[in-house]
Amino acid sequence: MTDRIAILGSTGSIGTQAIAVAQAHGIRVTALAANTRVEELVRQARLLRPELLCIADESRYSALKEAAAGLGCRLLAGMDGLCEIAQHQSTGTLLNSVVGMVGLLPTLTAIAANKPIALANKETLVAGGALVMSAAAERGLPIYPIDSEHSAIFQCLQGNQQKQLKKIILTASGGPFFGKTKAELAETTVEQALNHPNWSMGNKITIDSATLMNKGLEFIEARWLFDLTPDQIEIVVHRQSVLHSAVVYQDESMIGQMGVPDMKIPIQYALLYPERLPCPTKPLSLTDYGTLTFAKPDYDTFDCLTACIRASEIGGSAPAIANGANEAAVAAFLKRKIPFLRIGELVAESIEKIPSAPLRCYDDVVAADRSAREFVAAAIES
Ligand code: MG
Repeated sequence: MTDRIAILGSTGSIGTQAIAVAQAHGIRVTALAANTRVEELVRQARLLRPELLCIADESRYSALKEAAAGLGCRLLAGMDGLCEIAQHQSTGTLLNSVVGMVGLLPTLTAIAANKPIALANKETLVAGGALVMSAAAERGLPIYPIDSEHSAIFQCLQGNQQKQLKKIILTASGGPFFGKTKAELAETTVEQALNHPNWSMGNKITIDSATLMNKGLEFIEARWLFDLTPDQIEIVVHRQSVLHSAVVYQDESMIGQMGVPDMKIPIQYALLYPERLPCPTKPLSLTDYGTLTFAKPDYDTFDCLTACIRASEIGGSAPAIANGANEAAVAAFLKRKIPFLRIGELVAESIEKIPSAPLRCYDDVVAADRSAREFVAAAIES
């Protein structure tokens, strides 16, 4: 287990829960980075006294300087600041919970500096999975998944041989629009899409959860993390979010990981691996739930999910294109520039219209991401 962590995305949902887990187990937090929330970041710094403090939005740097005066932290800003934390000598494990493609360069930087990664930034693996996994494998560095489904699969693989794995069951909550048709979703408002039944999360991932893009991203993430082919991943809708995912071995034994829907459990497993110590969460009572349900996903209604599986089959830059198109489309939806269902259409169109190219280096990923964002911008204008 790790004794020191640096947290990118410390004021978000994963970041704040990671701090709670670190405090419960005496893990020192050596660096904190937030995107825009200076006040919350400085409040965390007062409590944790990290060596490094970074605001990703450079326009807030002067506000950070003023608010953090006298704290004794070295102050950083922008992508340079995130990457400095990623490779700093004080960094033990890098916990990356930033949102979006912006997390890729810090992840690659940390790997190059021999830092183990606790990864909650799924877009990193979707866009640059080939680069991240090969760089980590070259150095023998672990990537501990924090996404609850991927943590579940990682936990189910312990003590067994990965080569005897037949397939995985990736569970999905189904999002707030489970059971709805496209006709019923045509008029969906931003407020409706931001209202998730089981998890409280940031705006981007909540919209991804409503469109099932989140599950599509997780499908691609699972492929990279566990070296699977697309036909080895079965997505199952499980409304209660109690079975966090499962694996099936060659002997048809299915092993799953269950727990209350609380991200502190996967966060703690990533930080304390392979230890299992008391966690600041609630116990799971199966009899309180009584019934757990399972259903097939609706691929006709949720275009994002279908598009991600297609992107995964195409390979090369297609997943990075799907991710970039989605980031741009979600931002446009949140600004009320496009209707809800247009998000899925734009993701699907982006991988059909933009040719896939091989991803050899970081710049190739950035180029694929940019082409997708430009495609979406042009489609919205026309
Ligand atoms: Mg998840």
